[in-house]
Amino acid sequence: MNTKVIILGGGIAGLSAAHELIERNFDVEVYELLSIPGGKARSFPVPGTGKEGLGDLPGEHGFRFFPRFYRHVTHTMSRIPCGSGTVADNLVDTTRCQLNRFGRQPVNLIARSPRTMTDVRAALEDVSRFLNGDLNLTHDDLRFFGSKVWQIVTSCRERRENDYEKMAWWEFIGAENRSPAYQKLLGHGITRSLVAAKAHEASTKTIGNIFVQLLFDILTPGPSTDRVLNGPTNDVWINPWRSYLESRGVAYHLDSKAVAVSFDGKRIRSATFKQGGKTVTVGGDYFVFALPVEDVIDLVTPEMMRADPQLASLFTLDDITEWMNGIQIYLTEDVPLARGHSIYVDSPWALTSISQAQFWRNVSLSQYGDGTVRGIISVDISEWEQPGLNGKAAKDCTPEEIKAEVWEQLKRSLNYGDIVTLKDEQLHSFSLDPSLSRHEGTTANEEPLLVNLVDTWKLRPEAVSKIPNLFLASDYVRTFTDLATMEAANEAARRAVNGLLDAAGSAAPRCGVWQLHEPELFEPWRELDFIRYAQGLPWDDTLVRLGLSITDLTDKALLALESGSEEHTLTSQKASGVPLPHQALLQLADREAQTGVMSDLRREATTLVERVVRLMAARMAETQGRRGGVAPTGAQPRSGRVAIIPK
Ligand SMILES: Cc1cc2nc3c(=O)[nH]c(=O)nc-3n(C[C@H](O)[C@H](O)[C@H](O)COP(=O)(O)OP(=O)(O)OC[C@H]3O[C@@H](n4cnc5c(N)ncnc54)[C@H](O)[C@@H]3O)c2cc1C
Repeated sequence: MNTKVIILGGGIAGLSAAHELIERNFDVEVYELLSIPGGKARSFPVPGTGKEGLGDLPGEHGFRFFPRFYRHVTHTMSRIPCGSGTVADNLVDTTRCQLNRFGRQPVNLIARSPRTMTDVRAALEDVSRFLNGDLNLTHDDLRFFGSKVWQIVTSCRERRENDYEKMAWWEFIGAENRSPAYQKLLGHGITRSLVAAKAHEASTKTIGNIFVQLLFDILTPGPSTDRVLNGPTNDVWINPWRSYLESRGVAYHLDSKAVAVSFDGKRIRSATFKQGGKTVTVGGDYFVFALPVEDVIDLVTPEMMRADPQLASLFTLDDITEWMNGIQIYLTEDVPLARGHSIYVDSPWALTSISQAQFWRNVSLSQYGDGTVRGIISVDISEWEQPGLNGKAAKDCTPEEIKAEVWEQLKRSLNYGDIVTLKDEQLHSFSLDPSLSRHEGTTANEEPLLVNLVDTWKLRPEAVSKIPNLFLASDYVRTFTDLATMEAANEAARRAVNGLLDAAGSAAPRCGVWQLHEPELFEPWRELDFIRYAQGLPWDDTLVRLGLSITDLTDKALLALESGSEEHTLTSQKASGVPLPHQALLQLADREAQTGVMSDLRREATTLVERVVRLMAARMAETQGRRGGVAPTGAQPRSGRVAIIPK
């Protein structure tokens, strides 16, 4: 008999764990509370909307986007058969991201590095909009924010994990003393609208790391930063996934609520589920809790917390959630908006949206509802406590009031001057996330989202618990991804499965788990920062700027030597000035493209310059450290990384 694993929860984490385990010959059973698989990622038919034999209208908990830096979840998707390919083939690139303000022309930003002449034009327009103050950002705002981004990319991992984790994004980017546009776009816009966290409370480590990932995705040639599915999520991903898993032998039970687990002081022995009117108890060798934090705590007993004290922190983590829920607006006419996501920066409820029909090429909306729907704007509401234009917080509104207010905020953002993009007569109906319910004038939310607040990493558990047959897999678990997303849920599941394989003494290959990738280009600067960090010194880029300019100078000089060209002389380079940090960042794509053709001579020279700069950094840090720097706790020298510096 094979080893039996019971998975509690059938969202992305539960499905991912089942996938990895069934392919390694375990017996796998998944128990899911709802009657639809997929958890927060699910889409569903909106009950009662299909007329005269047509399908129910497609609804969703919230729209899905798959940034390019995702590796784990997309790796799994590429292993789920679908038609003649895999479900990864159902991902489509977006090309734009639209910023919408009240009563003003939208700003279309590019969502991928330019590939066509239209992209190039759009990119140039983006730059000129920023520089010309169309977004009300001053040059000083831009320079300052650029220096903050530079600080993140050149800060060592230890500084990010220990210092930036304890600092709010708002404080890090100095938002308090900057223009209202800066605060709105780069403070609230990046946090509230994108990840439902408040800028004043969100961890700089998390927001900074993710922002940098998105930025590199745009700057580096290749697929779009932002991909979406070509149909409702369950149709094109979750249902084929479940079918595949079942074909391999996974038993996936819907309508099964885990109500208790039996723990004998050493191991979990069984889990008890309510299935309709029945109660069933199921034994197993291993148990994976793939439940959201607010549900997992219902199963954790004091005895379990004694066996593994990290489980106690789940009760604090439970309070660190925010509301982010979707509403779909069905239209009688397709209104494509941008070819990508739209961010409504002036909307009091922090709305973001996507117009779905343009991406759902094989979906005919006339086959749903009463046959007259032609467009769907899927909106996420990320601010539920601030008053809307109607003076009420979303939490205090009825579903009908929420629809009316969202529609109004969209119209104010999309209709400007003589341009009328949204008209009342286009409005067909709406579907609000069913995890929201109204009772005695207040709204309850069954599925809030974990947010990464300052200094909360310490509360996050590892996937491998100290109870030898219990593993945790969900978006709140400690992962490289960190931000609560489908990517984090998938990575957590991989970590749980790897722990389980270790516990079972399995020789099966381990699941791939990958660090967030940042270009090697910045590695020397991060190493320099580590030298400072280990000495207890704050981040400082004076030397880094010097190093950059020397490297650049050397590079240009060697180029001149190689080509014999008069244009590239040291003198002309000196005259052109030293590149600013953000300029170097913008050169990234170009430099990366060149690495393959870099001559040995140039590579050696660059390495030499880097070593000289490192040596100078070490000396400078030592001198400053002797003058009063205190080594931070936990800063261990990283063996082999800076050993090339002679003492
Ligand atoms: C509005 C919104 C939009 C989002 N957009 C994106 C996006 O674009 N891209 C992205 O990467 N991430 C996005 N996220 C985040 C992402 O959806 C989640 O982080 C991810 O889906 C979490 O997966 P999970 O499996 O860890 O948890 P869940 O999806 O919560 O799955 C847990 C499952 O456990 C079930 N369950 C609960 N209690 C029990 C019980 N007692 N017994 C049995 N089963 C139980 C639940 O029904 C659920 O199916 C979004 C989140 C929201 C809320």
